Amino acid sequence: MKSIPEHLQALVGQAVKRIDTPALVIDLDAMDRNIERMARFAQQHGVFWRPHAKLHKCAHIALLLEHAGACGHCVQKVSEAEALAEGGVNNIFISNEVIAPLKLARAARLAQWLSTRGGRLAIAVDGLEGVARLAQAMKDAGAAESAIDVLVEINVGQNRCGAEPGAAAVAIAQAIQAEPRLRFAGLQAYHGGAQHLRTAQERKAAIAEVLRLVKLCSHEFGRAGMAIPLITGAGTGTMVNEAGSGVYGEIQPGSFLFMDADYAANERDAAQPVFEHALYVKTQVMSVSNDHAVCDAGHKAHAIDSGLPRLHALAAEHALRFANGGDEHGVLHPDNAAGNTSGWLPALGETLWLIPGHCDPTVNLHDFLIGVRGGRLKGVVERIFSVDGRGALT
Ligand code: PLP
Ligand code: MN
Repeated sequence: MKSIPEHLQALVGQAVKRIDTPALVIDLDAMDRNIERMARFAQQHGVFWRPHAKLHKCAHIALLLEHAGACGHCVQKVSEAEALAEGGVNNIFISNEVIAPLKLARAARLAQWLSTRGGRLAIAVDGLEGVARLAQAMKDAGAAESAIDVLVEINVGQNRCGAEPGAAAVAIAQAIQAEPRLRFAGLQAYHGGAQHLRTAQERKAAIAEVLRLVKLCSHEFGRAGMAIPLITGAGTGTMVNEAGSGVYGEIQPGSFLFMDADYAANERDAAQPVFEHALYVKTQVMSVSNDHAVCDAGHKAHAIDSGLPRLHALAAEHALRFANGGDEHGVLHPDNAAGNTSGWLPALGETLWLIPGHCDPTVNLHDFLIGVRGGRLKGVVERIFSVDGRGALT
């Protein structure tokens, strides 16, 4: 884990206004409420929740989530799994395909390391070659029998990774079962493309099709006399549908913890808990002209793949529009349509709070997250988190 530099450590206990900009700040009260709501939701629906750590890449946050009832964590990369394991997270699912022998050798080592401390590694596959390579890596590592859980990812409509639901998936599961060091642990059925469909009805319809494919696949497993130990999937956008389906045993939302502007643009399903924005870029005004101001957060401070950040609620007469000012700058214009009819602009040095368009790649731009308690305006810094898996690409 990264050590926290002294100047950041010295912030603990200090007022929020002491945080220099740009900085990525967690509103811990909002984050805790999001966690509580997710825990209650999972309990009410009788599903396990395995949050996706691709969002925060931070072992301490993962441990907080597990303390609140999460059954373990998902990651996308072996290197993210290694970063979490090093920070004490024991139950990790790489919800993604791993093909390169170099990475598989690391995954095999990690599986062994986790099992020596009572943990468990799981991994997704979507083809016979993937099973063979994983089995070889486990053999080369001298792994014990059933030392890794393997889930077959099926393509439920995103057309990214995933085997065809049906006979192809059964054949992969049989190949897993035939390998002594691998344990067939279930199916991953995740539809990323459905998460940001804007209306609740569109998302419901997309997941209805997912459920049809999952049931069709289950039927094929039944015909082959094979039980499916677990069906896992779902993100923040669609989880009400999967959790309420009676088919999924586990859900994998990540973004609920911080909530980005893109998710806030989704129409909320009535059954969805209210998740609050908990991640902000703190920025300050560094230049003012007669018709615009400039703040010190550009797209090195926040990801813009899902749209520009939104300014956190200013009064209508102070409404501003954020425009892309490049790597290190954000340009702020008076938002006439939202009620800033006087052309008001913030003063030099004034603090502004941005809600990132997309949280996951935003976090990946930062080494540290600054956790504040008691609100962004009057609160104090409670804790600094290191983004342990920052830049973990392999
Ligand atoms: N599960 C998988 C396999 C994912 O790829 C993702 C995100 O991309 C998630 C879960 C979490 O989704 P979200 O952060 O939208 O809740
Ligand atoms: Mn995302």
